[in-house]
Amino acid sequence: MLPASLLVIERGWLSSNSILFLEGEGAAVIDSGYVAHAAQTVALVDNGLAGRRLCRLLNTHSHSDHIGGNAALTAAFGCRVIVPQGIDAMIAEWDEEALLLSPLGQSAARFHHDATIAAGDEVELGGLCWRTIAVPGHDMDALAFYNPEQRLLISGDALWRNGFGVVFSELLRHPEGAGGLRAARETLDELARLPIDVVIPGHGAPFVEVGDAFERAYQRLASFEADVELLARHALKVMLAFALMERRQLARAELPAFLARLTFCRSVNARYLQHSDETLAHWLVRDLVRAGAVREADGMLLAV
Ligand SMILES: [Zn+2]
Repeated sequence: MLPASLLVIERGWLSSNSILFLEGEGAAVIDSGYVAHAAQTVALVDNGLAGRRLCRLLNTHSHSDHIGGNAALTAAFGCRVIVPQGIDAMIAEWDEEALLLSPLGQSAARFHHDATIAAGDEVELGGLCWRTIAVPGHDMDALAFYNPEQRLLISGDALWRNGFGVVFSELLRHPEGAGGLRAARETLDELARLPIDVVIPGHGAPFVEVGDAFERAYQRLASFEADVELLARHALKVMLAFALMERRQLARAELPAFLARLTFCRSVNARYLQHSDETLAHWLVRDLVRAGAVREADGMLLAV
């Protein structure tokens, strides 16, 4: 299904996939997982390298589960780091707000990048020529990588087998206006025009059911467009599920205060839901338990 020069390292949902490109004596990798898995990322990449030298690390976008292992990979292998042009400043200044670290209660190890890559650039990875495509929506500065010969798309969080990453940008209200959902639709339209045989998503296994994935993504997008409150609720559930995956557990009694400390949660709640902290905690737990993402035992919330 995939060229032999390309290796997908897939783990649980906390860490994004890493895609390793073997290039003779050298290698490159796209995305580095979450910081809590950094040592594992280094070990997995080292294993995949099989004696080759990791020369370049590229990122699809700035989220913690895609850049968390950057510092560890550069320390271990001395590779150059190349990030999407739009996140150049927030990485250089390590703007935890813009990087959505502090607002979501997430962590990443600070790293320095060596170069940027922009939409429309061409980059050779694993002996194949890839064109970078702007895929705003989930993240307004995100890039996807497309190889026309093999009809391969590395989609990051813009397209998954079942949906796409939370359209944070719609809920954040950047100074230039929201527009995240509109951007997500334009992104799907642009990607759907490409001849694609295999998608390598940012999370989950590579897949060939491309038409079905687009259908699901459009359905999901339409439901958010029809009711942005649905997106707000979805975003908070994803945020809490992620926090529990990272922490493994959290006392149920502490949840209202925990949620109140996260600025993203506070502002989304104030704008769209207007729940008390306790009510918010109550329905979040109820929905996540129902969805099978969280378990409650002895007053503790546990990731499933
Ligand atoms: Zn993301």
